[in-house]
Amino acid sequence: ASFVRSDLNAAVQEGLVLFRKACEKQGVELTASCQPIPLFPFDADQVRQLLLNLLGNALEAVAPGGRITIGTFCTADCAGITVADTGPGIPEEDIPRLFEPFFTRKSAGTGLGLSIVQRIVEEHHGNIRIESKVGQGTVFTVELAMGWPDC
Ligand code: ADP
Ligand code: MG
Repeated sequence: ASFVRSDLNAAVQEGLVLFRKACEKQGVELTASCQPIPLFPFDADQVRQLLLNLLGNALEAVAPGGRITIGTFCTADCAGITVADTGPGIPEEDIPRLFEPFFTRKSAGTGLGLSIVQRIVEEHHGNIRIESKVGQGTVFTVELAMGWPDC
């Protein structure tokens, strides 16, 4: 991985640009709410990949008229990204298996997206959380360590 001191909000905006058209086509509203984040070292290509995997899942989950909301935030030592959707949610029994390579509930899914997300999060010494309610939607929260490697 190539860690360069960069602007996480800029990386998120770049991911959104790639995604906005696909959302419009499907009648899905995409909104972003970004808080200020200091520059810190991360791999921008990998973080864009992570975002596209999460946004891709969100878009596959939501029906026309649904919403995807992306946010960024900052804690004492982490920078965070949230991707929320108003899709069908994830059954509780699936949650422990989501990051297994090849786990998919889709007829043409690869089951690789979230395992890649998890690898990228680990490379950034971060963590990922899922909150999901069947019938309401899903929120993925990714936190990336800001103090690693030393810069
Ligand atoms: P794939 O998208 O190819 O199925 P992923 O690793 O990206 O593989 O996702 C694994 C599974 O996690 C999906 O098949 C789906 O069951 C579930 N999942 C992931 N994100 C969402 C989401 N936003 N809403 C509902 N289910 C999801
Ligand atoms: Mg996927």
